[in-house]
Amino acid sequence: MTKKVLIARSAGFCFGVKRAIAIADETAGKGEAGKGGPIQSLGPIIHNPQAVERLQEKGVRVVETVDEISCGKVIIRSHGVTRSDRAALEGKGVTIVDATCPFVTKAQEHARTLSRDGYAVVVVGDPNHPEVKSIISYIEKGVSVFTSIAEVSAAKGVRKVGIVAQTTQSFDNLMAFVAAAMKRFSEVRVFNTICNATALRQQESTGLAGMADVMFVLGGYNSANTRRLAEICKAINPRTHHIETEGELTPSMVEGASVAGVTAGASTPQWIIAGFLERLKELWKCDAIEVSFYR
Ligand code: SF4
Repeated sequence: MTKKVLIARSAGFCFGVKRAIAIADETAGKGEAGKGGPIQSLGPIIHNPQAVERLQEKGVRVVETVDEISCGKVIIRSHGVTRSDRAALEGKGVTIVDATCPFVTKAQEHARTLSRDGYAVVVVGDPNHPEVKSIISYIEKGVSVFTSIAEVSAAKGVRKVGIVAQTTQSFDNLMAFVAAAMKRFSEVRVFNTICNATALRQQESTGLAGMADVMFVLGGYNSANTRRLAEICKAINPRTHHIETEGELTPSMVEGASVAGVTAGASTPQWIIAGFLERLKELWKCDAIEVSFYR
């Protein structure tokens, strides 16, 4: 029986991650032989340990805080950075290589403009996520900031609010905040700053999981969007495996299966997907497997 692999068309890097990795690669290329000092990224450029390791081999060292940086170049990852961290880096005179995703920059700009125009600002997202912290940092001092529906509903002394969202939020969650704000304030301005990369991956993976005998979700265990994809797929297809690399693929995972579905988080490199397919071919003992892309 022909073995078949269905791959989600959007599997792997989103636009912003692809761009950040290209910027990091280019910076590492220019930093050959230590010219211009060390190259550092403030936090891992992406949530994929294998890709971060490759960058490290090219000379990009991950640091967790601005305090650890004293010279050379610092790459700002796609989530962006807080205004205070950026100012601190500028004060140190290091070269800033900005790989902030343009969609995140837009959300930062809208938050700043709203606060300057006299709006209290609602930021829909996880307040502990670096992207949300960076968005909030662009809100002018003294302006009220709300990050939960409870805060919105309990707000006092506020007449008008503006709403922005973390780029990976769901549309339904944004709308729940909009509804709560409409009940509470006389003026509500909304910027839909959600990027469709997350929703697209989720939609495609949902469809695939229902068609496959066994479903594979490839990507870092530390990647929130990959873990979410695995949860969604598992709810539809209990035979779902979240693995980081082909090294974890075992014969029992594919035993008796003829159709394998494959999806990958927005931070999973193409070479991980390619490696997985090669290993699958070995396990299925076939020279070629039929591969189709699913949308
Ligand atoms: S998910 Fe969207 S906003 Fe986030 S890095 Fe990717 S393209 Fe940019």
